Parts: sequence; structure tokens; C-alpha cells
Amino acid sequence: MERAAVPCGGCTLCCRTGDAIALFPDKGDKVARYKTHLINVPGFGMLLALDKGPDGKSCIYLKGGRCSIWEWSPIVCQSFDCRRWYLSKTRAERRRLVRSGWASQDVFNAGRERLSTLPAEYGN
Ligand code: SF4
Ligand code: SF4
Repeated sequence: MERAAVPCGGCTLCCRTGDAIALFPDKGDKVARYKTHLINVPGFGMLLALDKGPDGKSCIYLKGGRCSIWEWSPIVCQSFDCRRWYLSKTRAERRRLVRSGWASQDVFNAGRERLSTLPAEYGN
């Protein structure tokens, strides 16, 4: 699994906006390693997702402003790129996802702010 090369610069937004961090055993996630609960994701069905910490929004593994399990963090964490996430949706799709609570406007904003750091093949 190639890790996304996002210039996060200590951002950690996508670890603390309350978005579900789903696990995908078919892609290599070893689900028994993690503290999880079941969620129902439209289009995917029932999936295991990482538990949240005491604030109900931040990932339970976010400690002291950083990921405490980065070396064995789930596939979605290692591959997520907020810039590509932003580009993969139309404005209407982004609005719909934010309104339905399945995506965070802040994470879309973080991706948009970093678009100029994408390689040239993405049109920058
Ligand atoms: S929102 Fe983007 S910049 Fe912020 S931590 Fe997530 S991937 Fe990194
Ligand atoms: S496992 Fe680590 S990278 Fe993934 S959401 Fe939690 S704190 Fe963030």
C-alpha cells in the first residue's frame, strides 16, 4: 500500500471531524487489531469503523495531536488524500455529502487549499 503524500503539515482534520473511518478487510485491514463499532454506509452496507474518543468526533487513536498507530493504521488512513477526494466530487456531490453528514466541509476545504501541491498530471 502506497501512502498518500499529502502535505498535511500537522493538520489532522480528517482524524477529528467525526467522519467514519471504515475498515476494509478485503483490502488488508486486520480488523481484530482495532477498537470498532458497526456502521451502515449507503452503498456499502454494514461496515466496521474505528471508535471515537471521548469528544465523540476524534478518532480514538488520535493522541496528543498525532496518530498513535500510524505504522498499522487502516488502509483508508494510509491512502486518503483530501486533494483527490475534493477533485473526485462535483460541487453538487460535495454539498450532498456534507448535508447528509457523510463528509465534512472542512476536509473538502483542506483538500481545495492544497490543490496546488498535486503533481502536474492532476492539471496543476
Ligand atoms: S484533511 Fe488533508 S491535510 Fe488534513 S490531515 Fe487529512 S489528508 Fe492531511
Ligand atoms: S487511525 Fe490514525 S490516521 Fe486514522 S483516523 Fe485514527 S488517528 Fe487518524
